[in-house]
Amino acid sequence: MTSFRDFALRASSLKALEAMQITLPTPIQAAAIPPLLQGRDIIGQACTGSGKTLAFGLPLVESIDAGSRDLQALVLVPTRELAQQVAGVMELITAGTGIRLALLYGGQAIGPQQDALRRGCQIVVGTPGRILDHLARRTLRTESVRYLVLDEADEMLDRGFAPDVERIVATTTPHGRQTSLFSATTPEWVEKVAARYLKNPLLIQMDLEAGDGLSIEHEVCEVWHEEKFDVLRKLLDQETAGATLVFGRTKHGVRNLGQKLIRLGYAVDVLQGNLSQAQRDQVIRRFRSGSTPILVATNVAARGLDVLHIERVINYELPETHELFTHRVGRTGRMGRAGRAITLLGPADLPKWHEIERGLGRKLPRVTPDGEAVRPLPSVPFRGGGRRFARRRSASRI
Ligand code: ADP
Ligand code: MG
Repeated sequence: MTSFRDFALRASSLKALEAMQITLPTPIQAAAIPPLLQGRDIIGQACTGSGKTLAFGLPLVESIDAGSRDLQALVLVPTRELAQQVAGVMELITAGTGIRLALLYGGQAIGPQQDALRRGCQIVVGTPGRILDHLARRTLRTESVRYLVLDEADEMLDRGFAPDVERIVATTTPHGRQTSLFSATTPEWVEKVAARYLKNPLLIQMDLEAGDGLSIEHEVCEVWHEEKFDVLRKLLDQETAGATLVFGRTKHGVRNLGQKLIRLGYAVDVLQGNLSQAQRDQVIRRFRSGSTPILVATNVAARGLDVLHIERVINYELPETHELFTHRVGRTGRMGRAGRAITLLGPADLPKWHEIERGLGRKLPRVTPDGEAVRPLPSVPFRGGGRRFARRRSASRI
């Protein structure tokens, strides 16, 4: 079996992995690290919670010349929380190397970020809006970027972010730039769009062999619209060892649902894009530490968030696409842990649900509100339309 020692990594990286108690590479790491070390462009698809951050992060560190203060690596992600998390991983694996990193995202004073950039840093992790802001102010220069990563690539290349991402990529120098895209979902259109950014990319798709999200146990429950809230309460009353993440659709809806639950005495926090950055940070801190057992969130928490003790994801309201469904439920069952995903369907949700199941290519088990199975699993896998063109809703709604 491959070990991290089989890759040509710095001693500091091996030491950092040891400190993180990470010993064996995951399949996506074993498949993506060697070609990335050779300088190849790749599109890496592997299920949620399978270690994609280190798959691009470890080769990224190898690409850095610590003797130069030029910016050499740029990692673009869709949300502030994910920027913080990815930067946290990058900080762990660059510890003691002298490599400097800047974390650039909105909702925060720009001054300290400018100071960090002025002092010089080789790696930037951030969200597109703020990075463009720094480019416009000329506090960030990207011509020297050699290693570019789009994490959650299908979202970064979809309508909402694509223009910003395109403008950022255009400021880098194409020759000599290695580019990689990572996501749990890479709809076919991603490959076409990616052709503009990638040179002869290697396509790595892990879930074809491994089975996607198999450690997540699904329950889909049809309820009347009026009983939805009571069913949610029953679920929240169940005893669990880990945390619960409840997804709603809109910022207002999520805020109201959270307030209603808090009034009833549930230990709930809310995460949505209308909160101040300080509030968002506090909510994430409390949820990560386990002091808040229930988080009610919009899709802002759907992608990338790595909180290992999330035991259940509840879709109180459906996401727009099957890709988003995959990302939402992928907040649980990470790195082989067990997880439950419960999806509540009101009568009006059925057409969209059928579309999501078609996109997933399988039917998920139905249960009654009391948790009893109502229909056996079909013995033949459901065959549907397969991949569909994912569409991102406007960022302002989450
Ligand atoms: P993804 O981006 O694929 O959703 P992450 O990069 O967030 O997954 O990693 C998920 C979790 O797995 C993290 O907590 C990370 O520390 C852990 N992890 C990553 N690589 C390994 C490994 N080789 N062995 C054990 N745990 C790992
Ligand atoms: Mg990730």
